[in-house]
Amino acid sequence: MLWVDLTHEEVEKRPVEEALLYEYLGGRGVNAKLLWELTNKGLDPLSPENPLIFGTGTLGGTFAPCSGRMTITCKSPATHLYLKANVGSHFAPELKFAGYDFIVVLGRADHPVYLWIDDEKVEIRDAQHLWGMDTRMTDQLIKEELADDQIKVAMIGPAGENLVNFASIMASIYRTAARGGVGAVMGSKNLKAIAVRGTGDISVADPDQFMEAALAARRALREDEYCWTRSFKFGTAQGVIGSNEGGTLPHKNFQDGFIPDVYKISGEYVSEKFAHPEACSSCVFHCGRFARVRSGPYKGAYTAGPEYETLVSLGSKCDITDAAAIIKGNEICNLMGMDIVSAGSMVSFAMECNERGLLKGQDLGGLDLSWGNADAMLSLLEMMSCRKGIGDLLADGSRIAAGKIGHGAESFAVQANGLEQTGIDVRGSMSYALAFALNPRGPDHLTTECLAEFAYTPEVRQLAIEVSGSEKGVDSLSPEGKPKLVAWHEDIYSVSDCLGICVFTDTWSYTRINFENLATMFGTATGIPMSVDEIRNRGEKIVTLERAFNLREGRTCRDLDVLPPRMFEPSPSLKRGEATLTQEKLGQMLEEYYKLRGWNTKTGVPTAKKLQDLGLNFLKEKFVRE
Ligand code: SF4
Repeated sequence: MLWVDLTHEEVEKRPVEEALLYEYLGGRGVNAKLLWELTNKGLDPLSPENPLIFGTGTLGGTFAPCSGRMTITCKSPATHLYLKANVGSHFAPELKFAGYDFIVVLGRADHPVYLWIDDEKVEIRDAQHLWGMDTRMTDQLIKEELADDQIKVAMIGPAGENLVNFASIMASIYRTAARGGVGAVMGSKNLKAIAVRGTGDISVADPDQFMEAALAARRALREDEYCWTRSFKFGTAQGVIGSNEGGTLPHKNFQDGFIPDVYKISGEYVSEKFAHPEACSSCVFHCGRFARVRSGPYKGAYTAGPEYETLVSLGSKCDITDAAAIIKGNEICNLMGMDIVSAGSMVSFAMECNERGLLKGQDLGGLDLSWGNADAMLSLLEMMSCRKGIGDLLADGSRIAAGKIGHGAESFAVQANGLEQTGIDVRGSMSYALAFALNPRGPDHLTTECLAEFAYTPEVRQLAIEVSGSEKGVDSLSPEGKPKLVAWHEDIYSVSDCLGICVFTDTWSYTRINFENLATMFGTATGIPMSVDEIRNRGEKIVTLERAFNLREGRTCRDLDVLPPRMFEPSPSLKRGEATLTQEKLGQMLEEYYKLRGWNTKTGVPTAKKLQDLGLNFLKEKFVRE
């Protein structure tokens, strides 16, 4: 581990204890434990005391499939709750090749700096000349300055410097640790970038058995016709048409879950016209896109993506079906270092404010925020990143902006706990509804994606039935079986994040990456034997620890486990205007989920017995009152 104290300009190297790996597996799990230990209730997320923890997965840099992911953890300035943001690219393996699994950044530099990790040598360098630069320029200048184009850079753009509540950290100019304002925390530390070059090796405990397990997992994934062909051809954007058919594609700030002209923002269309695949380290799927606009008003735009979330956030949510404009918006967000989900949500929220007459001409500085106005969307993205004009208000996120705008704006700010909801209209999916309500960072998908609910192949349908315990578990509008399905997903996502394995392996191919091969790969790589039951127990343990962070803040589960008000209104695209999700239905699922987890069924607080079973006794004094 590298411990970096920016206030005192000190760097210390510490070993990763084997006991920590055994109990928390690595990456996300170890990050969660460190965050718990390093923080206290009520910490200001933008204060120097908020640690920013970069945790590579335990299998990062190895031959394990899709193992190039990294988790960044801190307290969120958007929600004032627990935050983890996960990101791919080649940054995490490079850090491992340099000899480090974790970087813990503490304090605040008195001027802009960047961290330069060159194998053994670690320096805090001046970054005043980089401050204000977009991410593409930052990446390029650092590589030129250090005379090595193989360096991998994680950095913020102007949005992070300006403490935009949804600023991201870009790991390379293509991949984003997006949500919850993780880039604002980096900006608050005056840390512009971390540059790393690693030339070492990774050793595993039992090379023969590890390679056998990793190769078997790779082959299994490659043999999965559905995920291999769909993900390689269309990336995450493969889901746009299906989501629209299911009534879960947000349209006009979630006023509806269906858009008529969907093909023009589909993965199929984007791949045909603009994009080709790219991938994170060690990936077998290659779900990433690289897109370039070659003609028309946005000619010259080039960027990673657009992903499903981009096409929804900058597209259907704003009633925009011009894929070239969406690619341009994608480029702006990546250059400025902004979470596309929240940035797009703010545009669609502002468009609805405009429709309702809550934001008028003088507020908007002449910007025409009519639905579908792509140029206005692009201008607003720039303005938010620089906090210019109306962009300053919107840069604080929809909870704060709606509170300031008033006149009922809170009712259509599609956020919960301060985080804008990702691009699934959960009125069409009860497992997503439950998963989003439970997610400790707010209503989004990267703690669990419940695609099993849609049972798109016979294999996945069988798994959904087994996990949920009910044939009805695959009926997306029924609450039956959903608590089990969500808990299963949460646990396997948690384990995957700890190992650095992309959760899309779980999402797209449930039966091929499973607790069994994850346990085998972990055990043979680390030399720490891990049974199937143990590894799932660790997954659950980490889910519980993350929840505990929020409970320590003095929040109660019933006020945490909520969804945006709009999700309880009828959706025009579903059941002809009848509400498909009610507070009662959500309450019923939550109660059943709490029971399943061994938590108090009324309060949702983990019981003392459960904490003991999970080896989390140290949490007890902080919130258990029984
Ligand atoms: S599936 Fe996509 S996000 Fe996951 S590791 Fe591969 S390229 Fe990266």
